[in-house]
Amino acid sequence: MIRPDILIIGAGLTGLCLHHFLKDSPFKIHLVEARPRVGGRIHTKHPEGGPPLEMGATWLGAKHTRLVELLKSLDLKVFPQKLGTNAIYEWISTSPHQLVALPENEEPSYRLRGGTSTLIDALANEVGPDSLYLGEPVEKITLTPDGIQAITGKRIFQARAIVSTLPPNLLLNQVNIQPELPGDLTGVMEKTHTWMGESIKFALSYKEAFWREPISSGTVLSNVGPVTELYDHSSFAEDSYALKGFFNGTYASLKRSEREAMVMGQLRRYYGNRVDDHTGYHEAVWAREPFTYAPYETHVLPHQNNGHQLYQKPYLDGKLIVAGSETASLYPGYMEGAIRSAEFVYDLLKHRI
Ligand SMILES: Cc1cc2nc3c(=O)[nH]c(=O)nc-3n(C[C@H](O)[C@H](O)[C@H](O)COP(=O)(O)OP(=O)(O)OC[C@H]3O[C@@H](n4cnc5c(N)ncnc54)[C@H](O)[C@@H]3O)c2cc1C
Repeated sequence: MIRPDILIIGAGLTGLCLHHFLKDSPFKIHLVEARPRVGGRIHTKHPEGGPPLEMGATWLGAKHTRLVELLKSLDLKVFPQKLGTNAIYEWISTSPHQLVALPENEEPSYRLRGGTSTLIDALANEVGPDSLYLGEPVEKITLTPDGIQAITGKRIFQARAIVSTLPPNLLLNQVNIQPELPGDLTGVMEKTHTWMGESIKFALSYKEAFWREPISSGTVLSNVGPVTELYDHSSFAEDSYALKGFFNGTYASLKRSEREAMVMGQLRRYYGNRVDDHTGYHEAVWAREPFTYAPYETHVLPHQNNGHQLYQKPYLDGKLIVAGSETASLYPGYMEGAIRSAEFVYDLLKHRI
């Protein structure tokens, strides 16, 4: 049996950030993560010769103040998302697409140089190898007379407190919690939307950014689809190039090759056969990721119940905290929400030192 003071379930941004805030406290902190990698919904792929490709979180803005502070403190740099002055706009299938002028962007979006995973790597480097358990989904949480336990297929953690950073609907679906959580809380959890859980992202890497000619654009907005949005995704150094887009989430049940063929068909309409010269097609179907997404019992709207007041207190005699970006009262669902959730939990726990 492993005996940390605090066990954090999930090594995504919330879990790693909470570890960052607590690392100098007297608590013995351990993290247990279901996937064989850290980062959760932050996942940057690094194909050889191509730019870093974001399969998950990508953009931040100046309003994400905690994230901006954290990046500064870790000496990580950002750069503006390239949008160009024009976008390809396709509003109806019966009319050809047009090049339209983009209005001035009053709230520019930024990306991390080297990819969003540089943030995850910086935080994960602070975790000692004996404190991080990868590839171990927690199956059960049980209140015990002297604390609280989390059980994986490999071991039992006996802790003073457990912080779950799983999206609440996933926690409810995946982990058997004993005694049962109060009905008002579980009623909210099952209807708490997991941000971007239904999304499909794809990226195509290229040797040349052919879409930047004056008569074209790497920014596409389409009502026709199946690609609904597309953006220039080249590296900060401008030495490798890519396009990255969102694919209509209802196509999750198709085969990867079928989706790829649909993407290529749509992009040929805008750019001709040059799109076929890519050096790699990459995609992430988040609804197929069992450690991000669980289906809902009923229809749930984007951001529904995010930041609900029932997430702002601990449960099971104060020993279980339901955290994670979706529980944050500001910017829930986003990276900023993950940091604010970690901050909130830190404030709860520091009184116990
Ligand atoms: C496609 C996509 C695009 C996005 N774009 C943006 C963006 O541009 N800007 C932005 O700010 N945000 C964006 N987001 C949202 C952002 O990624 C999340 O807000 C943030 O990463 C959430 O962090 P988290 O730690 O709270 O949750 P998660 O990242 O979901 O972390 C939870 C962790 O728990 C683990 N886990 C699950 N089940 C178990 C279990 N049983 N036992 C142990 N561990 C378990 C998971 O593997 C995961 O590592 C995007 C998300 C996606 C999917």
